Amino acid sequence: MHVPFFELRDFPEGLEASIQEKVAFTLAEKRFVLGPAVTAFEEEFAQYQNVPHVVGVGNGYDALVLSLKALGIGEGDKVLLPGNTYIATINAVQQVGATPVLVEPDPETYNLTAAGIAKAITPDVKAILPVHLYGQACDMEAIMEVANQAGLLVVEDCAQAHGAYVGGQKVGTFGHANAFSFYPTKNLGAYGDAGGVTTQSEEVADSLRKYRNYGQSERYYYDVVGVNSRLDSLQAAILSVKLKHLHALNLERQRLAKIYLQELQGVGDLVLPATQAGCGHVYHLFVVRTSRRDALQQHLQAKEITTLIHYPVPAHLQPSYAHLNLKAGDLPITKELANTSLSLPLFPGMTEQEQSLVIKAVKQFFA
Ligand SMILES: *Cc1c(COP(=O)(O)O)cnc(C)c1O
Repeated sequence: MHVPFFELRDFPEGLEASIQEKVAFTLAEKRFVLGPAVTAFEEEFAQYQNVPHVVGVGNGYDALVLSLKALGIGEGDKVLLPGNTYIATINAVQQVGATPVLVEPDPETYNLTAAGIAKAITPDVKAILPVHLYGQACDMEAIMEVANQAGLLVVEDCAQAHGAYVGGQKVGTFGHANAFSFYPTKNLGAYGDAGGVTTQSEEVADSLRKYRNYGQSERYYYDVVGVNSRLDSLQAAILSVKLKHLHALNLERQRLAKIYLQELQGVGDLVLPATQAGCGHVYHLFVVRTSRRDALQQHLQAKEITTLIHYPVPAHLQPSYAHLNLKAGDLPITKELANTSLSLPLFPGMTEQEQSLVIKAVKQFFA
């Protein structure tokens, strides 16, 4: 039996039929670009997030780029972000002409901390870009305190953490503009590329609406040089259906994670995901660490269990970031995480039999 790393399953049962029905309706409506399906999803997601504004865009990367643009971050500005994030976060900072400053994450939560950020602040730092990595919320209350004291802007990268809470408040409600990806494998996923930005500010929302549509203020009148990054109507319609089940999908991820946490406790030298008090985890990924990472991955592959490494080479050691002039010895925590991390299969609809196979194979490896 093959255990996939991730598969879209009909979970909760009936979800696929509801999506097909909604897609058929949206096709018949024929309002494919910025039509009523987009407005409806923006309103529903704003309600879910408890924020006044959501602007749908083409993908998570554009959500980051347009957030930075709308906040006026660009040439000459430095942006603090975690060294161990996905490449998209760093590319977005580079794309607007700002300079990414990679900060070490906490070795236990893998997220930026307020103390780490405070130490990295210099006069040309304009913004902080915390990433709720693998589904765990950063300690946003402490981070906002540091940001407010230093007068810095905050963009949350929520691409892996839809529905994660800090205290009683969801991620994507703390920063000045907050980016979501709705890539198919994400906790809230479309059937193709899609993204969105949440903000408390009407001015930022207006700016985002212009940037995503060539800079247009009214038809054929342009205030800024924008791009084409509009949320597709069919994707918006699908997201409206899935949003209704996001809570159930996250609960299922948390249930599966709890089983892994119980069953793999104390096995070999495995380090299991640690959750900081008050910072919720929605387990976009279930990342374990071991000094024998590559051998464990091979052992699981031989048993047809697919695992992935998030991420094998950190940004500062990629050829595309050679210009940052960072060396292998810089960012030692980031490097160590890249060398030891392994993501186990975890997705809504994963069967008990599949998860037992993974647990059994991991235990057997360390026996
Ligand atoms: C997926 C992801 C993105 C980019 O989203 P896309 O929709 O693929 O462009 C950005 N940041 C993080 C942390 C991600 O996981």
